[in-house]
Amino acid sequence: MSRYAGVEIGGTKVFVAFGSGPDDLSPPVRIATTTPEQTLSAIADLVAREIDSAGVDAIGVASFGPLRVDPAAPDYGHMLRTPKPGWSGTDLLAPLRALGLPIALDTDVAGAALGEGTWGSCRGMRDYAYVTVGTGVGVGIMVAGRPVHGRLHPEAGHLLVRRDPAIDPFPGICPFHGDCLEGLISGPAIEQRMGRPGADVSPDHPVWELIADYLAQLAATLCYVVAPQRIVLGGGVGQNPHVFAHLQARLSRQLAGYLPDLDDPAALASLLVPPALGDRSGVLGAVALAIEAQARGEL
Ligand code: ADP
Ligand code: ZN
Repeated sequence: MSRYAGVEIGGTKVFVAFGSGPDDLSPPVRIATTTPEQTLSAIADLVAREIDSAGVDAIGVASFGPLRVDPAAPDYGHMLRTPKPGWSGTDLLAPLRALGLPIALDTDVAGAALGEGTWGSCRGMRDYAYVTVGTGVGVGIMVAGRPVHGRLHPEAGHLLVRRDPAIDPFPGICPFHGDCLEGLISGPAIEQRMGRPGADVSPDHPVWELIADYLAQLAATLCYVVAPQRIVLGGGVGQNPHVFAHLQARLSRQLAGYLPDLDDPAALASLLVPPALGDRSGVLGAVALAIEAQARGEL
């Protein structure tokens, strides 16, 4: 059986795991995200050791972005301008290419979507989205079974949402947009508006209904734009049950009966779901990318 390396690169931590799927995966190894040189060489060393011990057939990388994901572009695999110090322009793939295996790369959220589609809550579906609300807000969108790329890749976390300053005076923290979705509901935004981490805010605090309302605006937009069969909600905030508890009602109110297929609690419950792969969506998504790389034989 083939064996793959799945590499999930996050802004604060990297996970690397080896195997062929959820039932055959080594415990993910965690590496701190420091400088690009240090981080990428630690990943390459880990994969090189695995090649020597158990064998590896292909590598999949799912990374934070913005990232050039078009294989035909001259800067394919490079990090674009990012606020993360030192990472702008980094070639993520060069240290791994030296290992001589097929490699595929996509964003962390496209990877997580692919993982959920291959083994998790979106199996058998072709149109669906993976949303993470954590340190930032990211959305991986699958249409006709493929991640949407286009000019770059979707950046739906920066969706401009409707905020009523009389109800919510918090101006948001996005350095580009202030009160875009990420500026309003990311973990750091919640921490700033509450003066303490979201995990320490009581379940019955009205802020959760507010967060759910903004997240429902994203869900409604996704329904109008790509009509997904399912929207998976991951990340520390996205999986917070106090947010989830209000989401369906808020979305229903916003759609206002306009989409007949979703004008029903059972349909909304099947639309909005937590990740079936839990915390492993990302790293398993990277394994799914590796499987595709092997099929294409791409180096
Ligand atoms: P990352 O985005 O780095 O992959 P997480 O999805 O865990 O990791 O997001 C971390 C952010 O989410 C932090 O800002 C943290 O305060 C916030 N967070 C984590 N758990 C919760 C929770 N249960 N409720 C609200 N915010 C949370
Ligand atoms: Zn923004």
